[in-house]
Amino acid sequence: MAAYIRIMATLSENIALIRFDNSYSRLPGSMHARVAPTVVEAPRLIKVNRALARELGIAPDALTPEIAVGNALPEGASPIAQAYAGHQFGNFVPQLGDGRAILLGEVIDAGGKRRDIQLKGAGPTPFSRRGDGRAALGPVLREYLVSEAMHALGIPTTRALMAATTGEKVYRETVLPGAVLTRVAASHIRVGTFQFFAVRRDLDSLKLLADHVIDRHYPHLKESERPHLALLDAVMEAQAALVARWVQVGFIHGVMNTDNMAVSGETIDYGPCAFMDAFDPATVFSSIDEYGRYAYANQPAIAQWNLARLAETLLTLIDPDSEKAVKIATARIEAFSEIYSRHWLSGFRRKIGLVSEEDGDLGLIQSLLDAMQLARADFTFTFRRLAKSEDIPELADWMPKWRERLLRDPQSTEDRKALMQSVNPAYIPRNHMVEEMIAAAVECGDYSPFENMLAVLMRPYEDQPDAARYAEPPVPSEEAYRTFCGT
Ligand code: AMP
Ligand code: MG
Repeated sequence: MAAYIRIMATLSENIALIRFDNSYSRLPGSMHARVAPTVVEAPRLIKVNRALARELGIAPDALTPEIAVGNALPEGASPIAQAYAGHQFGNFVPQLGDGRAILLGEVIDAGGKRRDIQLKGAGPTPFSRRGDGRAALGPVLREYLVSEAMHALGIPTTRALMAATTGEKVYRETVLPGAVLTRVAASHIRVGTFQFFAVRRDLDSLKLLADHVIDRHYPHLKESERPHLALLDAVMEAQAALVARWVQVGFIHGVMNTDNMAVSGETIDYGPCAFMDAFDPATVFSSIDEYGRYAYANQPAIAQWNLARLAETLLTLIDPDSEKAVKIATARIEAFSEIYSRHWLSGFRRKIGLVSEEDGDLGLIQSLLDAMQLARADFTFTFRRLAKSEDIPELADWMPKWRERLLRDPQSTEDRKALMQSVNPAYIPRNHMVEEMIAAAVECGDYSPFENMLAVLMRPYEDQPDAARYAEPPVPSEEAYRTFCGT
């Protein structure tokens, strides 16, 4: 009751703060559960993303700690938890859903795009199962920093609008400070959302969902002959492009379950993600990924596997004749490798400074990656050094072949350098630095590493004075680095 009164009291203070238009909560009740955030003890803002707030038509100063944790609901919010299912590490779970995330609603941004505003870590929902509905400070800071870094790199992603601490403890392996992240997304609709209705044979909801997704993300498909097949193609294209972008910056998502694949084509769920340092296609960071299912080099194959699960949910909408539907969808899914390879090759061509195309380019890129793997060369640092035309001893055999190929590329040396520096970042959120940043905040309440790192990562393609620490690979002692308060 006390909680309810507090919500009502703050409500009136925030009239028309956010201009909501909540299309998902207007969909039938089979698709979500209405639920309010749980009031917390002592909210404190860590960060407001002022530029993003403005993009959403929200006055940044109006974003209070109470709003950031869900203690106050801005007028027009229609809080819901979304239903979804999903394959987790290959095993199907028919009901997952937002167990600790609450969708406040949607706004139309300055570019006319519909965006979700969601609180992650705002308390239990009907989908919480055995979870506490909470988020710990470390993962909230990781998601804020890495998702914003991805955006600055030019990679489609959910965004971070706010981070706040709750003043309450959350219990994991240890006791940790609780926090809430306000996440912004084109939508939070996942492959697993389709699976939720398909497995229940709820074809009405499934069709409503598919049409909602077409309207929202791929409106041009409405006119096509088979819109739901076209939807599969569009999601496939978006995911192929996305995963190719990931591998071109050494990003490892870490938990590519079907419930963590957004049909919009944005990167979503920054739980165990990390960027690779030394180039090794078998790299895995997540301790729960025992068999390396989501290793760096497996990501395109997993994307295809997830898309096959999406295709299965769409079969009845693709064609009433199920045999025919399977045949059509299978052919589409089989085309993924080719679509992905096209994105991969065009991206890596740019990384080595080519604007022309030759048959031998694939082999040239592959032999570079082979040499980097053999030398355990740092992925980001090596490409950045190439972009600056530095001589790299580990690539002594490869560089002459590359230079010879460049002679047949039409760009000037200056243009090539500019191109290469615009696609080969100097700064990525290196894992040892992310860990150090989290330790400073969690153990010492010191957010300056978070602020400093975020500032550097906002301009990943520009050399920045005094930021060398962020550009360099970890030295072995740093791989096990620990910070201590007061030092
Ligand atoms: P994730 O591994 O973050 O993709 O989450 C998988 C599922 O577990 C989703 O349904 C989440 O909502 C749910 N979940 C994760 N953490 C919690 C938590 N602390 N409390 C309740 N549900 C959770
Ligand atoms: Mg998830």
